Amino acid sequence: MDYGPAPESQKEAQAWLDGHQRTFGLFIDNAWSEPAELFASTNPADGTQLAELTQATDADVERAVAAARRALPVWQGMGGHGRAKVMYALARLLQKHARLFAVLETLDNGKTIRETRDIDLPLAARHFYHHAGWAQLQSEEFADYRAVGVVGQIVPWNFPLLMLSWKIAPALAAGNTVVFKPAEFTSLTAMLFAELCLQAGVPAGVVNIVTGDGRVGSAIVNHPGVDKIAFTGSTEVGRLIRIATAGSGKKLSLELGGKSPFIVFEDADLDGAVEGLVDSIWFNQGQVCCAGSRLLVQESIQERFLNKVRARMENLRLGSPLDKSMDVGALVDPVQRQRIAALVDSARAEGCNVWQPACELPADGSWFPPTLITGASTSAAVAQAEIFGPVLVAMSFRTPPEAVQLANNTVYGLAASVWTESISLALDIAPAIKAGVVWINSANQFDAACGFGGYRESGFGREGGREGMLEYMTALAEDARPALPVVEAKAKANVKPAAADPFAIDRTAKMYIGGKQARPDSAYSAPVFGANGALLAEVGVGSRKDIRNAVEAAHKASGWTSATAHNRAQVLYYIAENLAARADEFAARIAAMTGSKNPEKEVQASIERLFYYAAWADKYDGLAHQPPTKGITVALNEAVGVIGIVCPNEAPLLGFISLVAPAIALGNRVVVVPSEAHPLSALDLYQVFDTSDLPGGVVNIISGNADELARTLATHADIDAVWRHDGSLDGCAEVERLSAGTLKRTWVGGAKGRDWYSAAQSGGRAVLAHASQVKNVWIPYGV
Ligand code: NDP
Repeated sequence: MDYGPAPESQKEAQAWLDGHQRTFGLFIDNAWSEPAELFASTNPADGTQLAELTQATDADVERAVAAARRALPVWQGMGGHGRAKVMYALARLLQKHARLFAVLETLDNGKTIRETRDIDLPLAARHFYHHAGWAQLQSEEFADYRAVGVVGQIVPWNFPLLMLSWKIAPALAAGNTVVFKPAEFTSLTAMLFAELCLQAGVPAGVVNIVTGDGRVGSAIVNHPGVDKIAFTGSTEVGRLIRIATAGSGKKLSLELGGKSPFIVFEDADLDGAVEGLVDSIWFNQGQVCCAGSRLLVQESIQERFLNKVRARMENLRLGSPLDKSMDVGALVDPVQRQRIAALVDSARAEGCNVWQPACELPADGSWFPPTLITGASTSAAVAQAEIFGPVLVAMSFRTPPEAVQLANNTVYGLAASVWTESISLALDIAPAIKAGVVWINSANQFDAACGFGGYRESGFGREGGREGMLEYMTALAEDARPALPVVEAKAKANVKPAAADPFAIDRTAKMYIGGKQARPDSAYSAPVFGANGALLAEVGVGSRKDIRNAVEAAHKASGWTSATAHNRAQVLYYIAENLAARADEFAARIAAMTGSKNPEKEVQASIERLFYYAAWADKYDGLAHQPPTKGITVALNEAVGVIGIVCPNEAPLLGFISLVAPAIALGNRVVVVPSEAHPLSALDLYQVFDTSDLPGGVVNIISGNADELARTLATHADIDAVWRHDGSLDGCAEVERLSAGTLKRTWVGGAKGRDWYSAAQSGGRAVLAHASQVKNVWIPYGV
């Protein structure tokens, strides 16, 4: 028995293209522009031209942004229910025209009809349904937030309509308006979607779609009228966007590349794992950011498993994407084929074993056979680079810790798939893998209720779920921030200045690294003068080397991240207790440094803030989602890792505590630059830390020049996030720009101030979200 041809009809899709004379303008303000400079969209399965689209100009982007801006009050004025109705209509229309969309997507992209029909379309509709719900509930569930404003969205070609839905649905639900750019290779389903917007009653200017190449993306990114950029695509372009938006105040989310591990333990259901692997690396020809492109298999079953994989690869059917029984379709473009071929050739040149099943490739179009590479070293290009094709690189491991080490041996951190029949092993491994999504005994599962997004160079921000909605909103407390840092009115310091004490003058306040007092590597110190001009003390001038030592100490203190939240809370309470015992001393220090009228108030607020984050430590729980599959998805709030923090100059104790406490409460370790102007209260704190059971290396304090130290923090490869809140606009922009190197997360305050006494501005879930990242672990059950 063999398969007969089972082609899906393309009649309707071709008729739709004919109906548009196979030429499209831009969709701006609910109107189609006259087609102008055109570029072609082809069917990658046979190379035929499908249609021509318009290359948008800067002036077009300008018009689109202006239309989106005008539409904001209209769209927001409709209220949550009004928006929910329109989004529900979009979901219904997507379902109604699902077949036309699926065929058009297959023609334009080359992916099989089985995938567009059964995965892309149902998920796209589900996204609009789910987010219609968020629109309805917004005023209740996100009462302390508002929409960001005009959002620029840029997507790649691998899931054209699905990525459109992931972007547009949450943005609209939250009350934003959008300027959307599809990928040059695959813009046709976005054109069809624009027609649905008209039918669904989306008001003019709410959804604007501009087509064209990377220049259009760049014009959106650089437009000053855009409040947020949401990008999915290559890490390379993501980095450019991070640099371009630095200092602009634009909100940013990046969903970038991956090199995701697919880990098979010896006790796994091997046949199930083989099928999972098919869904993982041969789904969409491997052109998937979260493709399981690195197979890590336990040595004891390696040969047996690879034999099964090869046997299954022999049975993969490659051919016309419109044939309903095909497993593997065409690559999106010959450029992509050449890129994949070059990487596979590099593996051959490095002596790897490249295996491909006997497979006839169609004469026309862009194709690449399923490929298995063995014998690659961990540093080989194919083991490290995102191939973005149907190419699997297999390696082996002996023990679970070795599996984790190999899994994390990448700059990326998007997803992982773990196969074992032992739930205890699976749930032990899942938190250890640095990735935003972990699928247990499954692969490539997605749902609108479950956040998706990366760690490390796979980007930041999440799409889907509650956390995805937050990417499209701004906390009202941010709007309430003062225009400039709040500096307390000075009083005449009624404390005897330390300068009067010759022993105090001689003392140089030490830095604090790995739980020990440390002298600066530079051997230089700088004077700190009090409010009355007297010399209070000298502080060490920290340098690059001190930061390096501090980061090393912070990494060694990883036990803090795995400690229980209860344990972390106890330590924070203990710090508060010990600070309270020395409240007078700290108040005197603040008064001497700043001349504060009421230094006791700052100390008491600091104690309260420690209590506040101690309280949160064991309450910032995750969620258990119930996606429409048989399973649960557990959203865990994990620590970010090592965070570099530059503290404000005002409120030198409270500012320090308000930033350090949430970070360590959630399990991060920190390297902190205290207030450059008034560093002594922070440096005094190490005596409190030493008596409060805080493990060495969790908090490291490096005094010195804020600009210089911030630069080092932002460029350090082993720091995961940088926060800067010292009111320096240029300094904050620089942190954002330099963070692009390793795509660190950033939280910067810009030139505005922050009322450190205000619980709304300096506390709450918005701060905790900066101190954590959500990992979604999918756990299927049943048979
Ligand atoms: P890109 O990152 O170049 O493209 C993604 C989107 O960004 C497209 O809409 C693109 O436009 C646009 N774009 C390109 N340059 C800029 C710019 N300077 N500013 C703003 N937007 C820009 O990915 P490619 O499509 O070129 O693919 C290259 C490689 O990237 C792939 O081989 C793969 O390895 C990886 N990739 C990863 C994806 C993921 O989801 N992780 C998705 C796609 C690609 P246009 O389409 O017109 O070029």
